This record gives sequence, structure tokens and C-alpha cells, in this order.
Amino acid sequence: MAAVVRDPGGEVPVVRECDVLVVGGGPAGQAAAVAAARAGADVVLLERYGYLGGLASGGMVLVLDDMCTEKEISVGGLALEIIDRLRTHDGVVAPPMEDCFRNDSEVRARWVRWGFEHLYSRQKPKPIVYAASFDPEAWKQASQEMALEAGVHLRFHTWVSRTVVENGAVKGVIAETKAGRQAVLGRVVIDATGDGDVFAGAGAPGIDGAYIITLVHRLADVDTDAAMRFETADPAGARAVDAQVKQLLGASWDMWWLLTPRPGVIWCNCPHIPGLSGLNPEDLTHAEIEGRRRFVRVLEFVRRQYPGFERAYILDAAPQIGVRQTRLLDGEYVVTKDDIIHERRFPDVIARGRDYYTPYRSLLPRQIDGLLVAGRCYSATPEAQRISREIPPLMVMGEAAGTAAVLSLNAGVSPRHVDVAALQRRLIAHGVNLGTLEPALGTP
Ligand SMILES: Cc1cc2nc3c(=O)[nH]c(=O)nc-3n(C[C@H](O)[C@H](O)[C@H](O)COP(=O)(O)OP(=O)(O)OC[C@H]3O[C@@H](n4cnc5c(N)ncnc54)[C@H](O)[C@@H]3O)c2cc1C
Repeated sequence: MAAVVRDPGGEVPVVRECDVLVVGGGPAGQAAAVAAARAGADVVLLERYGYLGGLASGGMVLVLDDMCTEKEISVGGLALEIIDRLRTHDGVVAPPMEDCFRNDSEVRARWVRWGFEHLYSRQKPKPIVYAASFDPEAWKQASQEMALEAGVHLRFHTWVSRTVVENGAVKGVIAETKAGRQAVLGRVVIDATGDGDVFAGAGAPGIDGAYIITLVHRLADVDTDAAMRFETADPAGARAVDAQVKQLLGASWDMWWLLTPRPGVIWCNCPHIPGLSGLNPEDLTHAEIEGRRRFVRVLEFVRRQYPGFERAYILDAAPQIGVRQTRLLDGEYVVTKDDIIHERRFPDVIARGRDYYTPYRSLLPRQIDGLLVAGRCYSATPEAQRISREIPPLMVMGEAAGTAAVLSLNAGVSPRHVDVAALQRRLIAHGVNLGTLEPALGTP
């Protein structure tokens, strides 16, 4: 077989030009697009699948967490607005504030099966925190409404394969579509692909990352009350069943099933398959096949052994495989694990997680202009990204990228030279919690 084939390339029609071009419609990209459109820009969002939400909806990652410290909600803006929107679709459950931040065993018993305990708490037992469990279809509907109301031009079924760069600046992208290759140009481009496809195509420096891959499943017709009664009445028996499930799964978090807003429907954030690349189709195929295979074995087992699961069936496996980490930007600032665990504050903070802060510089590629990067491929070490990649803070990061893009266009400067204090003021005005701001960079 020949080692290469020649691609004819050739001219590609420009089908759209806009102010802000967002590539990727996951949590970060949808927030970037809505923020930029609300700020008055002509925005186009390109997405390879047929819906918004990325891993949140298509990956069926159904818990919004990492949005509060041990005392207060640490996100805001679009990350909280989406929860209100999900409510209008009857598609979200969140604990009332009076149940949060307390070490109370009754409260814990009420919410722990939703996955709302503080994962990273150093306290034992862990308190319940403000978090939210949602329905994936409700997410798609709520996000679509928000984007269209803001005036975002959505282009689905558009798989971006190349980046158009001129004189060191990104000018747009080329996508594969059923209608052939199409080019879309933007005055500022935001890479929210999760995998850094756009910055990699532009030749911006990146860091190779990888982490466990998961094909999330949902089971339906589960008598969740009976399952929870079994766990309380026979803890030793439940532990034994649980251990066998985990053996069949290969690996999983402590709780392999969690409640969802839909009665009798649970989601399973497992199995965890390590050692694969989320950029390699062979590896992704293996993860799909192996994830499904393991899950069928789990279903057969729990139907026989887990009270409450007798009639359970697989409602669906996520249409989008759960890739947590691939390429990361090697940007103007690379966030480290040390920054996160020591809760390092930055003068150019534009987003926050439970107890860590994201600097604007970690959205900026080195060398390449006209481009911002938002979401799980932001500039961080692989170790830092693993503990700073939850949906709510990434939505705030996206909101910051979209807002920064418009500020850069209004000021006629590249995103690198945006007035960060003005960006922070905008974000705070839109309800984002940035904590106490540090003095600006260069301030004595
Ligand atoms: C199994 C699993 C469990 C997780 N658990 C939690 C949890 O409990 N709570 C939590 O908050 N977070 C959780 N996370 C993390 C969280 O889901 C992700 O970090 C987050 O969704 C990343 O958002 P994003 O917008 O950066 O990327 P993504 O959600 O990956 O979205 C990227 C979007 O870009 C599109 N795209 C990619 N490439 C292209 C291209 N070339 N052309 C066009 N479109 C493209 C994709 O289709 C997708 O829509 C989990 C992740 C996984 C995988």
C-alpha cells in the first residue's frame, strides 16, 4: 500500500463571513457564541454534530459540578443561566441552598446519589454542594433557544478540518460537509473544539494530554427507591454487589450509578478505559466497542443481583464518546496543578472553579493572532486540566472568550491586547463571580 495519497486540495468556496467564528458547540463554545452575539457581534458557530452541548448533552455528562467553594457559588453568568433555562424544560434537579455546605447526614442521604457531594473536600464526611443534574435533551433544547435568541448563526454537520492562517493570524477555517469543503471566515476565531483542532491547524504550540475515556450509559426502568433501600438495609451485601460490578466495568468512580431528573432513569459515568488517545480513530473505536461490551455484562449481572435493577434496560449509550483530555494549548500562561491546589489568584482572572482561578492568558496562543481558545483544551498542564475541566467553569471561560472577542473588535486590537480590566468589568456585570480582584499586571 502506498504510504501517502495525494490530496487535490484546490479552491474552497467561502460560504460565510462573520465577526466572531466559534468552532465547537460544547459548553464552552455555546457560551462563547451567546456572549459574543449578545454583545452585538455577528456570530457563526460551527459544530460537527446536530445539536449543542458537546460532552454535556452528546456525551451524557449529566452533572454540573465544580461551581462552588465551601461557602459560596463561584461561577455565574451563563453557567447559572443555563440551569434556569433547564428548569423551563423540567430538565434539572439541584439541591436547595439550605441543603448545601453543611455536614448533615440526613441532607447527605438525600443528595449523595445525585453526585452532589463535594468531591474534592478535605473534610470527612463530605458536605453536599450546589450542583445540578440535568436531562441531555433538555440541555440541547435550552442551549439552542439561548443561541438562537441571541442571534447566533448555527451551522451543524460541519466538521472543521483546517485552519486558514494569513500573516500569523487566523482568518477562518475549512470544514468537511456533505456539500463538500466549505470555508467560513471570522475576524476573531474561538477554538472551542475541546481537542484544539483549530489552534493545532494554525501551528500554535500545544501540549499532548490524555486521560481515561468513557462511554457513558443510561439505564431505564430502574426502581431506584428499591436499590437505595437495599444499600441502606444491607450495606455489606450492597458493597459485595458493587465490587463485582466494578470488576466487570474494569474501573469506575466510587459511585457507578447516579440519579437523573427522569424517574427510573440512571446514568453511569463509567467504564473508565485508560491508555487510549482521543485523537486516534482506532483507539476511539476500541473504547466504543469495549465500553458497550462491558456495559452489557454489567446489565446482565445487576438484573440478577441488584434489587431494583430486575427490569432495567440500556436506554442509550452516549452518542459522543467521553474524551476528557487530548491536545492542550501551550499558551501565554500554562496553568499548573500547583496553581490549582494552592488556589493561586491571577490579576487577569476571567473564570473560577471551586477553588481555582483561570487567567485570560491561558486562552491566548503564543505566536498566532486572531484566535482565542476556550474549554477543556485551554492552556494547562495535563495534571492541571484533569482537575479544572468541569462544565460550569468552562462555560464561564467560554463567556469570557466571546466577550473578549467583541472587545478586541470594538477596540481594533488583537485578542492579546484586550483591556483585561474592561473584560472583567463586563463579566462581573453579567453576574460572573471572579472573587476579589488582584492588582493588574504590572501594577506596583
Ligand atoms: C465521561 C466524562 C465525565 C465527566 N464528568 C463531569 C461531571 O460530572 N461534571 C462536569 O462538570 N464535567 C464533567 N466532565 C468534563 C466535561 O464534560 C468537559 O470537560 C466539558 O464538557 C468540556 O467542554 P468543552 O466545550 O470544552 O468541550 P466538549 O464538551 O468536548 O465540546 C466540544 C464541541 O466541539 C465539537 N467539535 C470538536 N471538534 C470539532 C471539529 N473539528 N469541527 C466541528 N466541531 C467540533 C464537538 O462535537 C463538541 O460539540 C466529564 C467528562 C467526561 C468525558
